[in-house]
Amino acid sequence: MENLKIYLDNDINKELIKSKRIAIIGFGSQGYGQGLNLKDSGCDVIFGLRQGGASDIKAKDYGLTTFPISEVVKQADIIQVLIPDEVQAKVYEEEIKPNLRAGQYLMFAHGFNIHYGYIKAPENVNVIMVAPKAPGHTVRSEYKAGRGVPSLIAVYQDCEGNAKEIALSYASAIGSGRTGIIETTFREETETDLFGEQAVLCGGCTALIKTAFETLVEAGYSPYMAYFEVCHELKLIVDLIYQGGIEDMHYSISNNAEYGDLTRGNKLINKNVKDEMKKILVEIQNGKYAKEFMEEMANGGNKFNELRSASKNHLIEKIGSEIRTAFKWGVNNKLIDRAKN
Ligand code: NAD
Ligand code: MG
Ligand code: MG
Repeated sequence: MENLKIYLDNDINKELIKSKRIAIIGFGSQGYGQGLNLKDSGCDVIFGLRQGGASDIKAKDYGLTTFPISEVVKQADIIQVLIPDEVQAKVYEEEIKPNLRAGQYLMFAHGFNIHYGYIKAPENVNVIMVAPKAPGHTVRSEYKAGRGVPSLIAVYQDCEGNAKEIALSYASAIGSGRTGIIETTFREETETDLFGEQAVLCGGCTALIKTAFETLVEAGYSPYMAYFEVCHELKLIVDLIYQGGIEDMHYSISNNAEYGDLTRGNKLINKNVKDEMKKILVEIQNGKYAKEFMEEMANGGNKFNELRSASKNHLIEKIGSEIRTAFKWGVNNKLIDRAKN
């Protein structure tokens, strides 16, 4: 195994990024988090947004300077593309590419479009990535708390000879140098990111919760009890794993719970599940998943919307909402306020 090299603020030229003008394209989850952090770190940032649109209004409420996307591409040295993956290629062709010039830095927070070839940048432009390993709202809340989220950086094209230094300096300005920055490649980031969100973080996790919830409710148990046992407590367990690994979590839970973990977990997540995981990984590696996603979105996303509403209408969402309102935990510090960010 190779050694892990972690970059921290002390290893980084923090001033480098301040000599460049940065254009943030989009003011969604990452645009909000990265954009505001860069500003607070003293960087020269402008925002490329559809003028008069919902994001433009939110950004102006924060006192930010916005222009049409084509305009910020002309003005900036660094262009960080923070709009949804499925629209990036179209926006690139129409508004970014015609205004690019030699020596600029085209930047992404996910390698998807470059790795699968939906965007082909000119050879005289640097192509780099800074990908925070957290949702944009957390990128912001951690920075404000004096901390930062870890980020990955990668270099795909380096014309100036300083592409990696620029990526590190940018990552530091969004707060990641306080926690740790790791170098990877566009391929590795893209494939592991997609696999992680499909197999564990989003897909695997929500399907596990919902299936366990259904199992208890169908067996006649109270849906409120089911919610607490298979959803609410998950965060408390994950917090322990996050801080001290599976071993610390085992240290904290009862012997009874630990015995149940060690004897039942692998029966459930068995060889069949691993075989399915391997299939999911192959479809990511060979581009089948990317093609399916891009085609679905290009065709209006009807299947996506059907799946979304089915998920929204699942009993666990109604029960969860009722419980969270009744118990009032964390509601005053919610990271997401849809009117503002
Ligand atoms: P998002 O969905 O929150 O972005 C929405 C923004 O894009 C809004 O400002 C919207 O107005 C703008 N937009 C949408 N369609 C547009 C169009 N056709 N033309 C111009 N602007 C348009 O995006 P996000 O989730 O922040 O993701 C941005 C990038 O960051 C993606 O590459 C994603 O993979 C990556 N990323 C996201 C997260 C995350 O936490 N969401 C984490 C790591 C990496
Ligand atoms: Mg992702
Ligand atoms: Mg219990």
